[in-house]
Amino acid sequence: KTPTIAIVGRPNVGKSAIFNRLAERRIAIVHDEPGVTRDRIAAPCKITDIPCDIIDTGGIGMELDDGFHAQVTIEADIAMSSADMILFVVDARDGLTPTDEHLAQKLRRAKAPIFLILNKADHFEQELMMGDFARLGLGAGLPLSAAHGRGFGELADLIDETA
Ligand code: GDP
Ligand code: MG
Repeated sequence: KTPTIAIVGRPNVGKSAIFNRLAERRIAIVHDEPGVTRDRIAAPCKITDIPCDIIDTGGIGMELDDGFHAQVTIEADIAMSSADMILFVVDARDGLTPTDEHLAQKLRRAKAPIFLILNKADHFEQELMMGDFARLGLGAGLPLSAAHGRGFGELADLIDETA
């Protein structure tokens, strides 16, 4: 079976920007669960050596009425139920936020390996401020810049080693 990689994180960390860098072409899929209908976008990954499917769990970027925590919780559930690997994306410029910690807590139950992705690391100097994220217990994290394309070779290597 082709491994599925889910991109998870609070709104605005750059999940869709990362997805767009990884995606060969886009396929819209709908996730139906009692009380929840969310659009997800899936695609074959173009940067890995082995075939992988990637899912942007942020869907179309809509927020649910009951707020951030409900949203990230649902996205974590989607990732945990369907993914063989999880890219947990945080914003390297904002630093660690309570929503990141909430989501990390939730993902702790996932069986799939989780890679911490420090997005918006556009410049090397920013990496000096990334110590905070180690508190999540997911390792140092991989600095990435979806805007500039930094770090995607390393990300592809990580995925290929794990798949
Ligand atoms: P999502 O809500 O997690 O899907 O986030 P988006 O992919 O929509 O990105 C949110 C905002 O962050 C947009 O304005 C992007 O242009 C910006 N962004 C995404 N990746 C980067 C990055 O690597 N560096 C910078 N500086 N901005 C980024
Ligand atoms: Mg998005």
